[in-house]
Amino acid sequence: MQQLSAASSERNWAGNYTYRARKLHRPTSVEQVQEIVANAEKVHVLGSRHSFNDIADSSELVSLTAIPPEIRVDRQAGTVSFAAGTTYGGLAEALMAEGLALHNLASLPHISVAGAVATGTHGSGDANGNLATAVASLELVTSSGEIVRASRGEPRFDGMVVGLGALGAVIRLTLDVEAAYDARQRVFEGLEWKMLFDHFDDITSCGYSVSIFTRWGPRIDQVWVKSRVTNVPESVRSELFGAVAATVDRHPILGVDPVNCSPQLGRPGLWSERLPHFRMGFTPSIGEELQSEYMLPRQHALPAIEAVRGLAEKLRPVLQVCEIRTMAADQLWMSPAYGRDTVAMHFTWQPEQERVEAVLVDLEAALAPFEARPHWGKVFVARAGAIAALYERLPDFVRLVEDLDPHGVFRNAWFESRVVGVA
Ligand SMILES: Cc1cc2nc3c(=O)[nH]c(=O)nc-3n(C[C@H](O)[C@H](O)[C@H](O)COP(=O)(O)OP(=O)(O)OC[C@H]3O[C@@H](n4cnc5c(N)ncnc54)[C@H](O)[C@@H]3O)c2cc1C
Repeated sequence: MQQLSAASSERNWAGNYTYRARKLHRPTSVEQVQEIVANAEKVHVLGSRHSFNDIADSSELVSLTAIPPEIRVDRQAGTVSFAAGTTYGGLAEALMAEGLALHNLASLPHISVAGAVATGTHGSGDANGNLATAVASLELVTSSGEIVRASRGEPRFDGMVVGLGALGAVIRLTLDVEAAYDARQRVFEGLEWKMLFDHFDDITSCGYSVSIFTRWGPRIDQVWVKSRVTNVPESVRSELFGAVAATVDRHPILGVDPVNCSPQLGRPGLWSERLPHFRMGFTPSIGEELQSEYMLPRQHALPAIEAVRGLAEKLRPVLQVCEIRTMAADQLWMSPAYGRDTVAMHFTWQPEQERVEAVLVDLEAALAPFEARPHWGKVFVARAGAIAALYERLPDFVRLVEDLDPHGVFRNAWFESRVVGVA
């Protein structure tokens, strides 16, 4: 039986946002989702609440976690399908039993797959598309209660994957899978800025997935290099362009206990235990933080990094650490990596919303010349007027929203001000 609770005291993971919704539904079946949605005036699906803003809020919220995951592998198609409340951690466990893997993961396995896909969440790797690029098909309940299915290659599919929660309630997802693989990670410390500027492409391509962590000091703190284990014996490097291989496990923020981090020092392990920086069962990252992130065309990486370095003094009082990652271009209309090989500049902030927003005004101004697209699920100050020009398929996406949801049941305040508004 579906359960309701008042949502007024429900918060997101970071605790910087209290949902305003009056009701939180917890359906146990797809039929219940159809009924809830068809009867709602305004509704949104709540994922695992890891976004740092009001993207998931509405008058009514639906959590899909009580619907059985029903994870099904199709070996012939090379896919896995599952109910949309599933987290990457839960999915990875099921895939492990099948000897299968995903192409990439974000920094943490705790997030729901549907929520990650809806915001274009990503990991790293020059050749890796973001996590949404693994979606082969999806099913969603539209505002009339009807179920709509779409598969890769169909006309509207590329608009439906990074849906920002505005198209309907995704109830089932199918992702591409591959044979399980092992990976290892090594951390290199103290990279000179000059080395990064002279060898940026060599550094981001020196592993399957590379993360560069900096607090914008005299040197770059750490470079995390994740490699897939192959049959070819590994040539172990003791340094990376002068940065020295760490001899103990590290946390991305220097000085913080790495107990919650995935094992390093080149120890091989399953893909799902090396690609995320943080381990399931532990609090990811620092736990007390806000995050922002900007995705820009790869060719702007170096001038953009220089521009942010120029703001170091302003950023540092509220910054915990910055992470630079890369990802391959994709074709998903509202993906921050749409149409361009991408460099992502991520900021883990102190949990001080007002001070962070004040700094973001300068940061976004500094990144604007580089066509920086904000991460939909993180803190940013830009409004739709500034963002619209960065998404050439936005008019098509808005038409799709109007088509699937003519009465705007899934349109929330965040969507109006950040995606379609003129403010
Ligand atoms: C510690 C931490 C580390 C992070 N690391 C990364 C990272 O490495 N890379 C990165 O890119 N991002 C990262 N993020 C951001 C995070 O991946 C995104 O905010 C993501 O959207 C969170 O998913 P969620 O399930 O919590 O979604 P929520 O925040 O609950 O919702 C996000 C959006 O998805 C929609 N949604 C959720 N489920 C459905 C559904 N079934 N149907 C329709 N819409 C749905 C919601 O309505 C909302 O619009 C991190 C966040 C945290 C807190």
